[in-house]
Amino acid sequence: MEALTILANHLRELDAQALRRQRRCAETGCAAHMQVDGRAVINFASNDYLGLASHPKLIEALADGATRYGVGSGGSHLLGGHSRAHALLEDQLAAFAGGFIDKPRALYFCTGYMANLATLSALASPAKSSSEQTATLFSDALNHASLIDGARLARANVQIYPHADTVALETLLSACKTPLKLIVTDALFSMDGDLAPLHELLALAEKYGAWLVVDDAHGFGVLGSHGAGTLSAFGLRSPQLIYIATLGKAAGVAGAFVIAHDTVIEWLIQRARPYIFTTASPPAVAHAASASLSLIASSEGQTRRQQLQQRITQTRALLQQTPWRALDSVTAIQPLIIGANAPTLACAAQLAAQGLWVPAIRPPTVAPGASRLRISLSANHSSADLEQLSAALLASEI
Ligand code: PMP
Repeated sequence: MEALTILANHLRELDAQALRRQRRCAETGCAAHMQVDGRAVINFASNDYLGLASHPKLIEALADGATRYGVGSGGSHLLGGHSRAHALLEDQLAAFAGGFIDKPRALYFCTGYMANLATLSALASPAKSSSEQTATLFSDALNHASLIDGARLARANVQIYPHADTVALETLLSACKTPLKLIVTDALFSMDGDLAPLHELLALAEKYGAWLVVDDAHGFGVLGSHGAGTLSAFGLRSPQLIYIATLGKAAGVAGAFVIAHDTVIEWLIQRARPYIFTTASPPAVAHAASASLSLIASSEGQTRRQQLQQRITQTRALLQQTPWRALDSVTAIQPLIIGANAPTLACAAQLAAQGLWVPAIRPPTVAPGASRLRISLSANHSSADLEQLSAALLASEI
């Protein structure tokens, strides 16, 4: 069959460019030390920054949730699938992370990917009621794929500004004629580990009457007061802010949420297709996410954030000694730029042979020539884990 041959040829091209991705298979729960493909590894590949994904209290909460609510939700949120567990979680999220706005309300989604698709498409949609009035969406060049796909679903005009370049963004904003404008950014960029210039972005949003949509997938739980996220860390407050974060990373569970003014959330419930036309996540997962929020806000959460900070400081010092360029990241994402695909892959394979699981990130996730090792840190890594990684990097032959 010709279509199969075409696919097979494309896969061979991926192999030739060292771009084929392989899944590895975890035999135990996600943790800093775990079993993968039948062997013990130190895991630098997960986004489980606080080490909560296998926390006994969350395992217990999930089991308790399943006992109370069963396994499946049974339907979409608007047709029978919404449960008390979802509702309680939303109230808890708005109270915990909604300090950036008056009348905060939260909406829980199955995944962050869907939350981003939903938010961008629904926010842009009022503009479509008139053929002349379209929305313009201003997107940082390094935004996550789910924001890029959300912009596509929104069918808005999309203007991409160079990474974190607020001067270039202002030039675009000042020339923009559409009444509806959305500035869209990751708070903490997932492949570089740097923070968006949120003060400046909000000032521009206010000056030009735009929404500022912030995807804090990697900051929520880690940054800000009690882990309330990057808006809290920056001390921002504005009715123009729309906050999105996932519960599958530092929170260690699954799902995601949007917090915005009550009216915005009501609009999402009425119009966001990725919210409306999918089965609600299992209530037990929402119940476990509630337990995770309590942990994040507790003194244990605080201790875990301090431990993570120590590992970040240690890693930054160790990476300076390698022959490659360590990006200047003050977060749990520590990228080491190797450049070409094949040596990046070879280095990751050498580390893997020593039980160190560090993913090689290649195009299209990052720009060609900027392939890297993405070292992702957890509060549960020990100082010795980092020393072992550093020694292996220094001994690497690529
Ligand atoms: N935004 C960013 C910045 C992300 O890194 C991710 C996950 N890789 C997502 C959104 C999607 O979140 P989720 O995994 O919950 O779908």
